[in-house]
Amino acid sequence: PHEAPSRLPEPRIAASVAPSTNSHLEIDAVTKNFGPQAVLKGVNLSVAKGGTTAIVGPSGSGKTTLLRLIAGFEHPDTGTISLNGSKVAGEDAWVPAHKRHVGYVAQDGALFPHLTVGQNISFGLDSGKLPGGRSGVKARVSELLEMVSLDPSMAKRRPHQLSGGQQQRVALARALAREPELMLLDEPFSALDAGLRVATRRAVGQVLKDAGVTTILVTHDQAEALSFADQVAVMRGGKLAQIGNPFVVYTRPADRATAEFLGDAV
Ligand code: ADP
Repeated sequence: PHEAPSRLPEPRIAASVAPSTNSHLEIDAVTKNFGPQAVLKGVNLSVAKGGTTAIVGPSGSGKTTLLRLIAGFEHPDTGTISLNGSKVAGEDAWVPAHKRHVGYVAQDGALFPHLTVGQNISFGLDSGKLPGGRSGVKARVSELLEMVSLDPSMAKRRPHQLSGGQQQRVALARALAREPELMLLDEPFSALDAGLRVATRRAVGQVLKDAGVTTILVTHDQAEALSFADQVAVMRGGKLAQIGNPFVVYTRPADRATAEFLGDAV
């Protein structure tokens, strides 16, 4: 028999107990070493739900490593990472990548060359969980291709039959297939020529915005950061040198090195 609780639980003071409901990602004092090399030296970053953050900074400053830690491909040495108020990485916490609801698109898209576009997108989708089984998967693939402005007939092609821009859209569709809450884009447009780059960035940005997906974009391109993001984080030497809205970061860089880097970034 269950005993009724002798008294009601203590009332909670929401503001001091619950994490901010608007925060999707919290990175707190994260460090990461590879052998003797300190790659991340105490990174703090907060990303609002549905927000778009651009991470800019010189090559080798630790941008990709930070994304890989958020995705769950690497463990931090110290510090914590939380998603939706729950710790996913830290000394006493670990949530594996496939349980983080995070999508990741690398620079080259990294499609499986021997699979068709459709197989690439549906890779890892559980047909048992989709209405209609295998035909449900096919319908879902068509829907995802349409989301990234590609014709569903492309599902039968192989990656090498597509242009660079189309391949990046397929990579995005593959990441969207898992319905991520947070999308990590690691210079996904950098291999594209200028015209295609702008068009693809716009299309991708719109898809993510429409779906309400929180997005973090690593980019070398100042214009891309400005047009894409509501928050810019400048990374240098394993630390975030400045975080702020794009206008403030570009008009009032925190220090001379940041100003010089931003000036060179176009
Ligand atoms: P960015 O994305 O800003 O160019 P990265 O995060 O890719 O920077 O790399 C930062 C530094 O960490 C580089 O010096 C790189 O060589 C090193 N690094 C990244 N990943 C590894 C790894 N798996 N093993 C050893 N060193 C690594």
